[in-house]
Amino acid sequence: MIPFLDLKPAYAELKDKIDAAMLRVAASGWYVLGAEVAAFEQEFAAYCGTRHCIGVGNGLEALELVLRAWDIGSGDEVIVPSSTYIATWLAVSAAGARPVPVEPDPRTANLDPERVAAAITPRTKAILPVHLYGQPADMDPLMELAARHGLKVLEDVAQAQGARYKGRRTGALAHAGAFSFFPTKNIGALGDAGAVTTDDDRLADRLRTLRNYGSKVKYVNIEAGVNSRLDELQAAILRAKLPALDAWNDRRRALAARYLEKLAGVTCVELPHVPQWADPVWHLFTVRCRDRQRIGAALEAAKIGWLIHYPIPPHLQQAYASMGLKRGDLPLAERIADTIVSLPISPHMPAAHVDVVVDVLRDAA
Ligand SMILES: *Cc1c(COP(=O)(O)O)cnc(C)c1O
Repeated sequence: MIPFLDLKPAYAELKDKIDAAMLRVAASGWYVLGAEVAAFEQEFAAYCGTRHCIGVGNGLEALELVLRAWDIGSGDEVIVPSSTYIATWLAVSAAGARPVPVEPDPRTANLDPERVAAAITPRTKAILPVHLYGQPADMDPLMELAARHGLKVLEDVAQAQGARYKGRRTGALAHAGAFSFFPTKNIGALGDAGAVTTDDDRLADRLRTLRNYGSKVKYVNIEAGVNSRLDELQAAILRAKLPALDAWNDRRRALAARYLEKLAGVTCVELPHVPQWADPVWHLFTVRCRDRQRIGAALEAAKIGWLIHYPIPPHLQQAYASMGLKRGDLPLAERIADTIVSLPISPHMPAAHVDVVVDVLRDAA
């Protein structure tokens, strides 16, 4: 039996450090916005190569708060990928703006800059590329477009902690980066957590206010903010895990390389395309299968965990029925949803498990 993902070995590897971190916070008597959050913010900003990191409650609110801090809201449009986890769209909606879906580069599943250019209108305020599955989006053309049209660019880095684009870290490639540290991400908390990275002093200052009831000075509220704070316990746990992130990403890279090598020529799967400038961190290892039902059945018969990321694209979700989009309107996103298969990958998965998965796929071909 090969589980899709097992989070227990990551805890076991760092048990002493994580336990010490949790006990340190418990004994400190200070649980929200304290020394651990400040230290994690500094350490994660240094890791990403940005001036600032602002810890928040989760990845969705990291995205939403940046849009709000840029005064993006009612009447504004934000360009989002048609193929992404729905949180990317929901953040735009929560800010009061309209998500404008743009189809991906069919080879990578990330935003296609040429299609983005065609979707810009006088109402467009920002572009929200997602580094989907841990693979960086093609950022240079997006940043050029944004400069030409006076737009902001916000990276959704929820799936790509540590990935690089032309040698530079994700989260440091645009005006801001929004991170989730949901437990299943490449670096995950033991609960919900998120953060924003940016070089922009004013944005950082506004986010620190917005996340804490619009308050900089206790009981003085300069705007209608929210409660979206990274707590001390999660920050301390993330500090214990951050030093392991690069090694864990390297283990994901080794497993992905093994999949790519051994699955080459297996006719029932189309392998992920990695552009030359991309150094992905393989949050997910996704293949595409025309006959997904048969492949899924073969994996299940072998007791191998697999998932679909994601089975229903946002425009076909009931949550977005009011947009009036129907099947056929965003065919590339729909084709990804209809054919994608995520195979098991994680830092603690033995390489031999890759071989078992490959054998099952080979037999199914
Ligand atoms: C996980 C995820 C989010 C949301 O993060 P949460 O911490 O669960 O709110 C946003 N975007 C993408 C692409 C994600 O994978």
